[in-house]
Amino acid sequence: MAKLIDGKMISQQIKDELKAKVATLKEEGKDICLAVIQVGNDPASTVYVGNKKKACEYIGIKSLAFELPEETTEEELIGIIDKLNNDNDVDGILVQLPVPKHINEDTIIKSISPKKDVDGFHPASVGALSIGQHGFVSCTPAGVIQLLKRSNIEIAGKECVVIGRSNIVGKPMSMMLLRENGTVTVCHSKTKDLKDVCKRADILVVAIGKPKMIDESYVKDGAVVIDVGIHRDENNKLCGDVDFESVEKKASYITPVPGGVGPMTIAMLMNNCVEAGINK
Ligand code: NDP
Repeated sequence: MAKLIDGKMISQQIKDELKAKVATLKEEGKDICLAVIQVGNDPASTVYVGNKKKACEYIGIKSLAFELPEETTEEELIGIIDKLNNDNDVDGILVQLPVPKHINEDTIIKSISPKKDVDGFHPASVGALSIGQHGFVSCTPAGVIQLLKRSNIEIAGKECVVIGRSNIVGKPMSMMLLRENGTVTVCHSKTKDLKDVCKRADILVVAIGKPKMIDESYVKDGAVVIDVGIHRDENNKLCGDVDFESVEKKASYITPVPGGVGPMTIAMLMNNCVEAGINK
């Protein structure tokens, strides 16, 4: 039976470490401030933004909320981002995605200064990761690396298979595993013999966006399985991309859903904000 990797506990540890760091910075007269911009009122986005504000409050990071109407134009949004880019009191800028359809997401991401790009989505941040330079890294895959490290799971020299190549999870995940000296294979919808490739993995990271698709037949005995997926099943219960009941019998470590990768994303966002404040 696999050991559970407790993302709730590990994310709490990280938030408490950050809280202590922020308190020390405050004593030195340094405040950390995150600007969070939401355009429109998509209910899921409102929940995510609310959780980010709560995490800021817990850690002692000041949060500036910009709740903009759905009709906000791209120019208006860029104008606000530009002001925040030039405001020395603001350390991090986050635009909650998705933005309404009349606004180009790529243009918005590029308009955020890489120095304040705490989501790690700016092409300069992504480029820095791929050539091993310092920059902000995407929060969900950064959270996965912390889950592995803080569970004392060695990455160097391991066969790491990532299912998914999205810009926010799969691609940065593979770059980060490579940076940790894993031997990395990235799978996607055109991958042939997905099962055979997955069965080579010592560490299998699943970000496929398909509820419970990965069962024990994709998993090598004793593999570490990290489930990035979040869905609601037919009974409206949260589940991941991995069929937990079947895989936990074969894996050595596994992340649950909920309580695995999910809580790590906000913890790593907070970490990026504190880094932004320290390095400005
Ligand atoms: P995307 O839908 O953007 O990407 C899914 C990836 O899986 C694509 O690269 C796709 O390949 C690949 N894929 C789809 N079907 C197959 C298949 N049958 N075989 C092999 N590969 C396949 O999803 P995201 O990366 O944004 O998210 C992945 C999951 O993680 C989702 O469940 C999402 O809800 C969750 N998530 C969780 C977060 C958290 O905080 N825990 C944060 C972000 C996402 P191709 O490129 O060829 O289309």
